[in-house]
Amino acid sequence: MKADLILRSNNIFTSTSDTPISGGVAIKGNKILAVGEEAETFCGPETEVKEYGNKLIMPGFIDAHVHYFMGALAASEHVCDALITSSSEAECVAIIKEFADQHPDEERIRGFGWFPANWNDAPLPTKKSLDEAIPDRPVYLDAADGHTLWMNSMALEEAGITPDMKPKSGSIGKLENGELSGLLFEPDAMAPAMAKVMELDIQKMKKLHQDFMANINKWGITSISEMTADDYNDTTYRNYSVVREMEKEGSLTCRLHLYPKLDGYRDFTKAVEYRKEFCSEKLRISGVKGFIDGVTSTFTGLLLEPYSDRPDTCGVNVPNAAKEDNADYITAANKAGLPVRLHCIADGSVRMALDLYEHSQKENGKLPFYNTIEHIENIHPEDIPRFSKLSVIPSMQPYHLTLDFNEKIGRIGKERCRWEWPHRSLLDAGACLAFGTDYPVVDFNPFPSLYAAVTRLDDEGVPTGVNPEERITLAEALTAYTAGSAKAYNRDDIGALEAGKLADVIVVDRDLFSIPAEEIKEAGVELTIMDGRIVYEK
Ligand SMILES: [Zn+2]
Repeated sequence: MKADLILRSNNIFTSTSDTPISGGVAIKGNKILAVGEEAETFCGPETEVKEYGNKLIMPGFIDAHVHYFMGALAASEHVCDALITSSSEAECVAIIKEFADQHPDEERIRGFGWFPANWNDAPLPTKKSLDEAIPDRPVYLDAADGHTLWMNSMALEEAGITPDMKPKSGSIGKLENGELSGLLFEPDAMAPAMAKVMELDIQKMKKLHQDFMANINKWGITSISEMTADDYNDTTYRNYSVVREMEKEGSLTCRLHLYPKLDGYRDFTKAVEYRKEFCSEKLRISGVKGFIDGVTSTFTGLLLEPYSDRPDTCGVNVPNAAKEDNADYITAANKAGLPVRLHCIADGSVRMALDLYEHSQKENGKLPFYNTIEHIENIHPEDIPRFSKLSVIPSMQPYHLTLDFNEKIGRIGKERCRWEWPHRSLLDAGACLAFGTDYPVVDFNPFPSLYAAVTRLDDEGVPTGVNPEERITLAEALTAYTAGSAKAYNRDDIGALEAGKLADVIVVDRDLFSIPAEEIKEAGVELTIMDGRIVYEK
């Protein structure tokens, strides 16, 4: 048998060993035939050969944590993302009015990125200012943290929001006179309106998916996920179905792993039904997603001991579910064969999640898959060895450590900050790290993340946090971003360059191993192959 394509380089990082090898990667159809010197034996008269000199060939990046549907929409021309620059309600309204005027064909006006913290802590906005500026089309403006939606009267009406609605969690904003204020707080309350936000005609949806995927392929990413904990409703089914149609048409250029909702469910029949329908190599239900806490910046991250700058609180268990209820949800999901991924920012939620996974293992026996804990911004050192013991994957976003601006030192104190984003300690304790971005929280370009993990410096070269001893090597960071993330998706057919694996292969525009660390963040991609097909070439 001869290869369709051979990529040659002096530096091939396979993710199965720490040192690059030389030779080639031979590809036939959508699979890898051979790697290294052996690849040459598959070279026939019809084989296309591409020479890359010293440039690094490696497995496609696997971003372990992406909010795909919201992210793809927010990146499209259908959403005004300039709200992020606004410094007051009036300025924000002026920006969205200009967007509306420039987009007469959009039947709904969508915006993203307003944030009261950037408005000098002015009072929260209301529908009134939007009604005056845009009275004739529904307006939906999502806050920068995705936890509040601001709408005009037409949008409230279109989405069927009424003052007496009682969402499972969160709340419906009201004015003093009891009438709707135009604000919805937290995902459950926002759901009917978000369904409208996601409503676009099918051709527009496909176009925005294709554009977005082309963009991520440009950065060498071949696998991503949908981590928004979508509920089991028509909007979700429609979103998933559009991508499935694209797969049938051959226009899906990135593998997408779907994680619908965990919280509140004791019966996962619906998730299992979804999984039967969405179960291909490119699009599949890979488990379910839940939350244990919020974020430390708003004191909703759950700590074991009180906040240093607010001794009255340890934070909150955000879905407001008792530990016993969470135990039921997780055990039931695992029993139905669904891996669980839990959002846990702070040491209290991380410990709770580990306890809950331990409980599930007691009830279900040894699981044939990995559960994960997402984020882990800080952890109690005693919990670090439990990851490898319980086969739980720490799924982390190294670039986030540069965004913290050392805020946590004030919030949780220096001593606990020693255990912020503890990549090195987790690896040393035998854990398998998975890396990603949490896009759209930060950009999906993986190179700044690798740089942050290797140096523990921010983009300006300033140390982030107090624990440079948590640096890891480039090989470890690349492994986390490929083989490690593949494990978080419970897959062994991607994430490494080995005979028999699916051909998700990229060529980086330089040899990352022989450049100074500062240059890692400047790197780009020369070629991206997904499923044996070239999906990007510089
Ligand atoms: Zn997330």
